[in-house]
Amino acid sequence: MNFDDFRAQAHRFSDWMTDYLETVEDRPVRSQVRPGDLLKQLPETAPAHSESMDAIFSDFESLIMPGVTHWQHPSFFAYFNANSSPPSVLAEMLTATLGAQCMLWETTPAANELETRMMEWLRDMSGLPETFVGTIQDSGSASNLCALIAGRERATKRQAAHGGLSGARPLIVYASAEAHSSVEKAARICGIGSDNVRKMTPGPDYALQPAELEAVIKADRAAGLEPACVVACLGATGLGSVDPIRAIGEICQRENVFFHIDGAWAGAAMILPEERHWMDGIELADSYVFNPHKWLFTNFDCSAFYMRHPAELVDALAISPAYLESPDGEQMPEYRDWSVALARRFRALKLWFVIRSYGADGLRAMVRKHIDMAKWLEAEIAATPGFEIMAPRRFALTIFRYNPGGLEDAALDDLNNRLVRAINDSGRLYVTKTTANGRIVLRMVTGQIYTEPRHVEAGWKAIQEIAAGLD
Ligand code: PLP
Repeated sequence: MNFDDFRAQAHRFSDWMTDYLETVEDRPVRSQVRPGDLLKQLPETAPAHSESMDAIFSDFESLIMPGVTHWQHPSFFAYFNANSSPPSVLAEMLTATLGAQCMLWETTPAANELETRMMEWLRDMSGLPETFVGTIQDSGSASNLCALIAGRERATKRQAAHGGLSGARPLIVYASAEAHSSVEKAARICGIGSDNVRKMTPGPDYALQPAELEAVIKADRAAGLEPACVVACLGATGLGSVDPIRAIGEICQRENVFFHIDGAWAGAAMILPEERHWMDGIELADSYVFNPHKWLFTNFDCSAFYMRHPAELVDALAISPAYLESPDGEQMPEYRDWSVALARRFRALKLWFVIRSYGADGLRAMVRKHIDMAKWLEAEIAATPGFEIMAPRRFALTIFRYNPGGLEDAALDDLNNRLVRAINDSGRLYVTKTTANGRIVLRMVTGQIYTEPRHVEAGWKAIQEIAAGLD
């Protein structure tokens, strides 16, 4: 493809992108294809000869698009949103065009310095402690892994990275049973092992119970184990629960245990002063993550990871072969040593575009609107016979189930499982389910950038219609 063709196609693609976003609402939210549908249509071998962009693009529309679930659809209420936004997409186009690999300061100085400044902007916009310094990771999972690595290093007096864990006392990680599965995965990866993750039974609001946490830490220590890290949830994935940050932080200080907070989704809401009471005590944390790629309108991937003492992580990860020597960058943080991958994308650019384009107040208005829509939904559900709220609303996440009456728990679970399937098969909206106290419940997140109150109203109406049609 020569540059004239590239220019023509780029114009055509940008028109397609705009048309797509303008009309995405007319598409079924969740892809309606069946497993194997695409594979059957794809050639088994790669083409030997060049194909025209017209042919490739035509196949993109006819083969690929039916297999796409539309995460930017205003009736996407499932999981946690992976929000994009027009300024973020524009920045991503530039990032892809530059194709810069930003592993060292010198391989793209602007990426390094913009990342430093963006992490400061996000920290200050969210009211985080000034003692936090951060870097952009590719995922919340990677951020949780880095936290556990730092916790492991502290517990082993910085021995584990070099000497391994054999011979060391078993390290223990503590988290609510509501914590994200990536915490357990991180324990597996960093050698702690998932059997050494204590999944604490949460209390009435699905939040970790500090008194129980302290008792278990003490008992483990008395039994010769090494408490290494506590992970608190700020908006857990299933039910959105928030653990009592200050009480947990004080326990971690008394017990000298590394304290990490996972706010992957709800951390974005900390840009709202009225929501910051949830993170009271955050200055006691050693590390903290939130993902702008979830709820700060910055397309995947962009996970903001903060630490109070980055040296604990950096000492564990830094290796400097001659081919990576870069004397000019020595006075700057070399973020390759702050994360697993060496190669780094220019992620700060899209954050810069998003924050400048909307402004902190604009972003606040968007997040606040999402939370207001959830408040409306929660009130509607609570007031509708045959439906019940199953956990307190947290931020923009509402938890409920259909309960027309007269059914035992198992039958209710079956009914709600069928309801979720019927809703998503309808293509009208997309929701997911989880369990609350062992019972199947529906999760509805009103946090998509293009969602307006009318979409939430229509979605709620659709749920009631579909529920009434179940046998
Ligand atoms: N932590 C929480 C609370 C999450 O909800 C998620 C994902 O939804 C993660 C961590 C993992 O984040 P990522 O998908 O970026 O790896």
